[in-house]
Amino acid sequence: MRIAMIGTGYVGLVSGACFADFGHQVCSVDKDTAKIDGLNAGVMPIWEPGLEALVKSNAERNRLTFTTDLAAGVADAEAVFIAVGTPTRRGDGHADLTFVFEAVRELARVIKPGTVVVTKSTVPVGTGDKIEAILKEEGVTGVSVASNPEFLREGAAIADFKHPDRIVVGAEDGHAEHVLKEIYRPLFLNRAPILIVGRRTAELTKYAANAFLAVKISFINEIANLCEALDADVQDVARGIGLDNRIGSKFLHAGPGYGGSCFPKDTLALLKTADDAGVEQRIVRTTVEVNDDRKAQMVERVVRVLGGSVSGKRIGVLGLAFKPNTDDMREAPSIPLVHGLIERGAAVCAFDPVARHQAEQILSGVEFAGDAYAAAKDADALVIVTEWDEFRALDLDRIAGSLRGKVLIDLRNVYDRSEAEAAGLIYYGIGRGRLVVPLI
Ligand code: NAD
Repeated sequence: MRIAMIGTGYVGLVSGACFADFGHQVCSVDKDTAKIDGLNAGVMPIWEPGLEALVKSNAERNRLTFTTDLAAGVADAEAVFIAVGTPTRRGDGHADLTFVFEAVRELARVIKPGTVVVTKSTVPVGTGDKIEAILKEEGVTGVSVASNPEFLREGAAIADFKHPDRIVVGAEDGHAEHVLKEIYRPLFLNRAPILIVGRRTAELTKYAANAFLAVKISFINEIANLCEALDADVQDVARGIGLDNRIGSKFLHAGPGYGGSCFPKDTLALLKTADDAGVEQRIVRTTVEVNDDRKAQMVERVVRVLGGSVSGKRIGVLGLAFKPNTDDMREAPSIPLVHGLIERGAAVCAFDPVARHQAEQILSGVEFAGDAYAAAKDADALVIVTEWDEFRALDLDRIAGSLRGKVLIDLRNVYDRSEAEAAGLIYYGIGRGRLVVPLI
């Protein structure tokens, strides 16, 4: 199939490269000239495991090309995927569809009858209808509009795209359904379930999926609070409930609250959609509140552990990206934590294996270290914020030797108290027994 992919961000670039790897002919279009120049020179705009090799091998076979020229990119495409950003609209929390509609208006000038326009961006219910209306307004006929939400996770994006739990296609006509089935045929042959549903249903499915995962995270975070009050261990509770197939073990890791480019904005957008429809969504609304509070509480946790004040103290921070294996800093829990500590007078020295460049543009007043041990050097406490693999096997004796205050605050429960204590550290996890905070 001949495919055009509009947007070469985390989703567009991965999807385009994977489609090319399936054997399709893909042209990736982005209006960001620097990104396209970089991609044409083999430089990836994002950090995602395996992406560079996948892009390069398909570009070398001429199955994957990059351009800023939308007209050339979509000229003979059978399907045009829209994978541009849909951030939170400033001021009201709705999904901002400016980029989507801009792309559609540009498309309208060049698209040919028979093409299927597919939203891969996460878009509110009814966006497909609006795209249809814009195309009609621009005098375009004979074009199908479909929805194909993407469920990949940053950090495991290629594996997720190639081995999805399911593919959701929202199609309103047989042609769109046929084209999308052809595109996904390599996965279909691997028995990945493909759900053909109405377009509005597909749009809502994506929001419902993200909202549900956000609920799971906030749920276990509240249970962690209870564990700290009642002297129970949230890791064991999570395992005890997660082994129940009806619940499932994923997304039951207590931590500093969810961040990233999707959950915060998609939960807000779902609430706005529900408000517009006059239907209350109390569970999701509470989840958003719980998570906002959670992120803010992490600063207080560090302050309490350090005896009520961090003024004049030095704090090492491990991990800045919103999760491991990505350089994405959008809505990362590290941001309110680091800023909160600095506002309270602490000096922060942080290390992240790949997100330093992105972090430097967001975090001000932070010193960046070259590795975990340098971040710990002479610090009063070391805080693990993102559970990168390399933080799972630290030499704790060396960490203890580098630290001045010997305090390890493990917001991801990477370590066991016993091993940290054996190295001479004072250990604070999340939800792991009564939170006893001695004065230091
Ligand atoms: P991103 O910000 O990383 O990338 C968007 C890209 O679109 C940018 O490179 C931008 O330059 C380009 N763009 C914007 N307008 C354009 C136009 N008119 N023509 C050409 N290019 C244009 O965004 P992302 O993280 O890849 O997310 C894209 C969509 O996918 C969002 O709706 C998001 O919610 C959804 N999504 C993201 C993830 C994820 O893990 N990041 C997962 C599933 C779904």
